[in-house]
Amino acid sequence: MELLPVRRRPIGAIRSESEGQERLTDARNGVVLVNAAIWAHPWDLLDEGPESAFERLLNLGITKVNLATTMHSVQTLNPHNPERKTFFADASAYFQPDADRYGSIEPDPNETMGEEDWCHRVATAADEIGITLASWLVPFHSSKQGRRHPEATIESPFGDSLVWGLCPSNPRVQRYGEALVADVATGRGFDGVEMELADYQYGTGYGWHHQEFFTDLGDLGELLFGLCFCEHCLSNARAAGVDVDAARKAAKTGLEARFDGAIAADTDVGGWLTEHPELRTYAEVRRDTLAELFESFANTIAPEPFTYYLKMGGLGDDRMSVEHSWKHGLDLERLSEFVNDVTVLAYHSDPTVVRDDVRTTDSLVDAPVTAGILAGHPIVDSYDQLESQVSAAVSAGASELSFYGYGVVPERNLEWIGTALESVA
Ligand SMILES: [Zn+2]
Repeated sequence: MELLPVRRRPIGAIRSESEGQERLTDARNGVVLVNAAIWAHPWDLLDEGPESAFERLLNLGITKVNLATTMHSVQTLNPHNPERKTFFADASAYFQPDADRYGSIEPDPNETMGEEDWCHRVATAADEIGITLASWLVPFHSSKQGRRHPEATIESPFGDSLVWGLCPSNPRVQRYGEALVADVATGRGFDGVEMELADYQYGTGYGWHHQEFFTDLGDLGELLFGLCFCEHCLSNARAAGVDVDAARKAAKTGLEARFDGAIAADTDVGGWLTEHPELRTYAEVRRDTLAELFESFANTIAPEPFTYYLKMGGLGDDRMSVEHSWKHGLDLERLSEFVNDVTVLAYHSDPTVVRDDVRTTDSLVDAPVTAGILAGHPIVDSYDQLESQVSAAVSAGASELSFYGYGVVPERNLEWIGTALESVA
């Protein structure tokens, strides 16, 4: 099989509209290609046979796979899996961790995997076939870790442990993240590390099973409910001169006002924070903490590329864009110093919103932007929908497209991806 080229972008390349377009394409045998990747869970690939899956992907014009190595809890529906049609996974790791690297928080190898190392099997096949393989890590969004280490979770203004999220301010959590990054980046055959939700997340987080939230928290309530008041966040804020008691009181008072309907669900977050400067500064301190942590991640991953995912709001939520990243504690300007690229998860049915996501990200982050496109229901239910999104992302200057996801969309959707990539070649 003729293998497709995988082109590395230079770190810190100067970008312009025209250069962005140029980076999108690559010539091989006279064919112009769009850089395209796809997310995959290990069972998506191993049940079919990774060689077969990779050959299928290459034929579709996809040269890179972002493989889940540490993931949140999930149930997937697998329409074209020859072995199973659904898979239940607790938050877990899909490799056998190097135990010596870790402190008190360690990865949980997936129970179904047993003594095997699924990532190793996939990486071996990727190397043989010539697919670029990135390690896709979701390090801190783990309800299993949160239940096991409740003292290391994000703590609501009221003192509740939010078990879906480990707090990035906690030194034990930081050490876990650093060990995890070093573990996957060393000798496991990955060509880069892509990271999601290694930040403060917010409010309702990204899900717990069967949540019963029958109060509309609104953007402000989501922010306030997820602001962490663990001892480490308090300590960092105190060191920055914040009156943490005043900040905490403001967060609680704001939430109680929302519960009672005394303030509206669509209260302007920025305006409200201006009236509560202690809390605004409290939230801002988190950006320094994350910037230092991410710099450490980047140094460990180098010389392989470090990619961070920007994701705001729930699936198909058109209200939130990357402009709201600060609510996760992310400082995009500083993030630009450490990442090789970012992926904006532009999961919107309306292609103009996909376009705006890419453009906005490009304006806020000084790094190449990959557009993440969800190639299945409820975002994409027809070829035309997918093509319009691909076209919008490419014309907005995305340097790469990444599709969700190999095993969780029907085969016809995979064919749509191949056809859509041809349409923009
Ligand atoms: Zn905290």
